[in-house]
Amino acid sequence: MNVLDSELVVAALRRQGWEMAATTAEADAVFYNTCSVRQHAEDKIYSALGRIRSEKEKRPALVVGVLGCMAQKDQALIRARAPWVDLVVGPGQLHRVPGLVDLVLGGGGPQMEVSLDRKAGSRDAVAQSFESYDPDRDPAMRPTPFQAFIRTQTGCDKFCAFCVVPRVRGPEQARPPEAMVAEAKKLVAEGCREITLIGQTVNSYRWADGGKTTRLADLLVMLDAIDGLDRIKFVTNYPRDMTPDLIAAVRDLPKVCHYLHVPAQHGSDDVLTRMKRGYTIGEYMEMLSRVREELPHAAVTSDFIVGFCGETDAEFEATLDLVRSAGFKNSFIFKYSPRPGTKAFERQADDVPEAVKKERNNILLEAQAEVSLAGNRRFIGSRQQVLVEGLSTRDEKRAVNPGPDGVAQLTGRTMCDRIVVFDAPLRLVGRLVDVDIESAGAWSLAGTVAAGVADALPLEALRYSDEAAPPPPTLHSIKLPT
Ligand code: SF4
Repeated sequence: MNVLDSELVVAALRRQGWEMAATTAEADAVFYNTCSVRQHAEDKIYSALGRIRSEKEKRPALVVGVLGCMAQKDQALIRARAPWVDLVVGPGQLHRVPGLVDLVLGGGGPQMEVSLDRKAGSRDAVAQSFESYDPDRDPAMRPTPFQAFIRTQTGCDKFCAFCVVPRVRGPEQARPPEAMVAEAKKLVAEGCREITLIGQTVNSYRWADGGKTTRLADLLVMLDAIDGLDRIKFVTNYPRDMTPDLIAAVRDLPKVCHYLHVPAQHGSDDVLTRMKRGYTIGEYMEMLSRVREELPHAAVTSDFIVGFCGETDAEFEATLDLVRSAGFKNSFIFKYSPRPGTKAFERQADDVPEAVKKERNNILLEAQAEVSLAGNRRFIGSRQQVLVEGLSTRDEKRAVNPGPDGVAQLTGRTMCDRIVVFDAPLRLVGRLVDVDIESAGAWSLAGTVAAGVADALPLEALRYSDEAAPPPPTLHSIKLPT
């Protein structure tokens, strides 16, 4: 969600003549797009604000902005802790950033724009204060030119006890399906081949208009019909909304990836109740068995929180059992971090010691790694269609620069979201290729581009760049037009 928000803010600033700066020292404005999901993410921003302070003292005209969820959550506290910040803008007000920057540069002083608190008015009034401006796209800001996110809805109404999202991103608001189809067509015309639909609970998507209701399954049908689009993914799913029509759409639509991220969060019913997740493990497993029945090769992934308020050894064991038995492709595992403004923060003690959280985190990671390795080994000997995304992490670190026809170690993903590494010419980036899988680790597969494809490719020797790689552009450092 934040990657997409950054893309949209940069797109809006570029239209005003701003350009990305390669380093903070060259920048005329620096923005931090922030996350509030865990304390650690917030601590990192306050540290970064501490580091930018000396630059701001040297160059008082430098505009420093804090954007996103932390801006919405902390509001005036940010300037109280870091008075050199010029802009505080919540996720529902990001469309205002260019105008607010102008105000700061024009001598208007510090600016703050945030949405209404969830309890500050009616649902409609609060919803209206969280505005979206999704059609502003900027291809240069995407993870790759051929992959893009499209937002299906903003906000969330689930109110899980540990989660700050409903507060900082506001009420759930769906976008009209026609707007997303038009956006997808525009993206495809710009060379995009894979679209990932994003929403906090993307499968809760529902748009009612003129007596007709469009749900996520209907939206997938509309997107699947777009010529030139190869792949459609959607994240993140809420277990109770994994309906039979959605599973059938994934099964039947050829462009929809067999990859479902459905966070379970915990393996114990008592903890799920304390978390206010709204389902039992029995219901989660029933959903999973329906998925396995209709989509036997689908990759299902999950999120887990360890060390939630009052979590006993036995309750943690229940999560461990779930991970060992559910066959998740992988899980994102987090130590519980109490968030002010949530029900858990207000009403439940954060009583699991940090050392215990850490130990449980490591145990669960190890268990998931074993499950992931076993799952990946099943692919050895198979041929997988891979969308080539770019250099592998190894060659990116080595600053390999073989030129478009030179061979490097590339990485891509299968239809079920498994990472595959293989040697191939760089010009294959952005294309779909078949790869014969030869080995597997817990987090990736490795293979060789299939014979028919490989024969047509010049197999040049790897060539490494003589020069050190240029520094990547600082994502949110912006240069004023000259
Ligand atoms: S469904 Fe997801 S985003 Fe919504 S409150 Fe729960 S954890 Fe947070």
